[in-house]
This record gives sequence, C-alpha cells and structure tokens, in this order.
Amino acid sequence: MTKTVAIIGQGLTGVTAGLMLAEHGYDILLVGAKPPLIGGLQLAPNGLEALRTIGLYDAALSGGVRLDNIAITAMNDGRTLAEIPHPQNRVYIGIGRADLYQAVEAKLAGKKNIKRMASPAISIMRASDKMELVLEDGQTLYVDEIIGADGVNGLCRSFVCGAQLKAKTAPYYAMRSEIEARALPRLFSRTQTQLILGDGCHFVSYPIAGQKRINAVFCASPEKLGPEWQAQLFAPHPILKYVADASAQWVKLPLFANSLPASWRRMQVTLIGDAAHIMPPHLAQGAGQSFEDIAYLKTQLQEKPLSDALHSMSILRASQLKSTTNKASLTGQVMRLSGLPAQLRDSLLGLSGAHLLENWLADVWQANS
Ligand SMILES: Cc1cc2nc3c(=O)[nH]c(=O)nc-3n(C[C@H](O)[C@H](O)[C@H](O)COP(=O)(O)OP(=O)(O)OC[C@H]3O[C@@H](n4cnc5c(N)ncnc54)[C@H](O)[C@@H]3O)c2cc1C
Repeated sequence: MTKTVAIIGQGLTGVTAGLMLAEHGYDILLVGAKPPLIGGLQLAPNGLEALRTIGLYDAALSGGVRLDNIAITAMNDGRTLAEIPHPQNRVYIGIGRADLYQAVEAKLAGKKNIKRMASPAISIMRASDKMELVLEDGQTLYVDEIIGADGVNGLCRSFVCGAQLKAKTAPYYAMRSEIEARALPRLFSRTQTQLILGDGCHFVSYPIAGQKRINAVFCASPEKLGPEWQAQLFAPHPILKYVADASAQWVKLPLFANSLPASWRRMQVTLIGDAAHIMPPHLAQGAGQSFEDIAYLKTQLQEKPLSDALHSMSILRASQLKSTTNKASLTGQVMRLSGLPAQLRDSLLGLSGAHLLENWLADVWQANS
C-alpha cells in the first residue's frame, strides 16, 4: 500500500521535500501555512547541485542572478579588503525566496498525491504502527511517517530532541529588506555579493529577480538597532546612505546559535532543514544544506524503503553538517568583532583575505550529492 507522509512546515524545505517525495509516488500531506517570503538566498555549488538532483536546478538558474564575486569592504573607510571571484566553473547565484518557492509550487501544481492543509500541527503521538497528528482546526491524521520541516523552534524538534534542544536566540539580529533596484545606485545591481564589515555589525547585499530587486541584510546586536539605527549607522556611510534613503521596509529576525542534534529521528518522525540543523546565516548555507538533506534522501530512496532512507539521511547528514554549522558560527563571531580585534580582522583580510576565505569555504561549497 502507498505510504502516507505528513510534512510539517510549508517553508522552502517542506515544499521541496514534498515535491521530491510525491515524485517518488508517496501520498503527501503538506501541513502549515505558506510563510511570508521576503528577500533572497545565495546558493553556492553545493546547494545548486542538490537542486539538480531534486530536479530544480534549471528553475533555480533561470529565476536567479548569477553572481561573479564576493566583494568585501571595510565599513569605516570603504577600502577593499578582499574579492573572491567565482570562476566560470563555480556557479553561485542570488535568488528571491518567493521566486524559488514559486518554481517549486509550479511543479507541485496538479500533483494528485499532494494535499495541502493550512492549519498548523499541534500534537504528535504514536498510534499503533502509525503516527497520529492533530491539527489546530481539529483534524486528526494517521500517517506512516512525519517529516519535521517546521523550523528552529517547531513541534517536531521538541518531539525528536526534547525541549532542552530548543533554539537559543543568539545576541544578534538580522534586519532584512528587499528593495527596488531603481531606488538605489547601479552599484547595488552589480552581479556580486557585497559584504561590508563594520564594528560589531555587517551589511550584505546582492541582486535578485533579474537584477530588478536588491536583497539587503544588516546584522548587528540589539544595542545598535535602536529606533534611529538607519540614521545613525547608514546615513554617514558613502554607500549605505542610499539604502537609508530608499525608505526600505525592514524585517527584524533573531539569529540563532548553531545547534545540531546527534539524532534527527525518533519513532517515525524525522527532522529536515532548519528543524534539524540550526546555524547562523553567515555562510549563506541554511537553505543550501536543506536541499542537500532532500537530495541525499532522494538518492537513498533509490535503494531503500522510506523508513530506512530517512534513518540513513538522519545519520549521515547529522555527521556531514558538524563542520559547516561550526564554521557558520565561527564566521559569525569574526563578523561580530569590534574595536581593535575588528581592525586586526580587516588588516588580515586586506593582506590575504581572498586566499583565506577560499580555503575556509572550499569544503562547504563542495557538492555532496
Ligand atoms: C538573514 C538570513 C539570511 C539567510 N541567507 C541565506 C542564504 O543566503 N542562503 C541559504 O542557503 N540560506 C540562508 N538563510 C537560511 C535559510 O533562510 C533557511 O535555512 C531556510 O529558509 C530554512 O527553511 P525551512 O523551510 O527549513 O525553515 P523555515 O523557513 O523556518 O520554515 C518552517 C515553516 O514551518 C512552519 N511551522 C512551524 N511550526 C509549525 C507547525 N506546528 N505546524 C505547521 N507549520 C509549522 C513555519 O511557520 C514555517 O513556515 C538565511 C537565513 C537568515 C535568517
């Protein structure tokens, strides 16, 4: 009999996992509301190769903007610290979250073995050989497997790991905005990632949506993000002043310290995406790694039944992710430096930044799938 899989969470991980499993012939229940999709994602070769395995590579490339390099400058004096070029054989893109989500939804449309339910899940329990899932609207579902794609503080992480592994908020925030490119000087539309390193803060931008929109993220501690933060931090800067002038709408997001449970599976509940691996966004890897989870699961399904494939995915990916989550965390600590340590960081980057960063990122960007 066809197995039924409930996927909790309709973020990018949930819908992509749902698509892959539906294409494998399982009956899929996608549970939860569609999230707001603001801003963009950078996808490096590892994430893009995972999307190729899943069958979404062409859609990602056509919806994304290919980026040529990462340009790192100092916020205090604007000097170039390093430039990491992406050679022709390293495809690296910026893509709007909404554009990628839409590409997945276009493939979901018309699939008869997918049912979408907007009500959130409120409880999970074992019921004989099935899992019982109760939704907020009162429905009770009995399914063979549950995939927890419900993010950093979801029900599934609590079910699998216990409450003690709930995400801890890092003392740092990201302000995210999506700005019309025509409201900014053309340098923001260049096909590059701009990283501006400051004193206890940093700014990242890159173009998305055919260079018509700019994804902008500013990370800083809560003390720096007072009511006048744009006027105080952006207005005096020769480039960031244009972002302040663009009257952008900013969404404040808490950033979480990395947390990687040793086990991603309990009973028939398996974590995937951010629910499984919490990491700060400083390597731009969260979604890319989620696509790697799904791609690995797909390869396992070619040789194993579903429960064994989920079990293998949860073990192998947990061990693969250790180095990446640690690196994301360390990168964040370096980006957050202030005072003299920040000046030393900038000097070191100025001397051999490109070489250092290429080495630091080589294994992260390497495609696994
Ligand atoms: C500032 C910032 C920049 C980033 N930049 C990048 C980048 O450049 N590249 C990259 O690869 N990654 C990046 N990331 C990481 C990336 O955004 C995440 O890894 C990715 O969005 C995770 O998707 P997800 O679907 O696993 O989780 P989420 O997007 O958190 O989705 C989880 C979903 O589950 C839903 N949910 C929760 N509980 C329930 C419930 N009980 N029932 C039903 N639904 C539920 C939530 O409402 C949500 O919709 C960045 C993150 C941040 C914060």
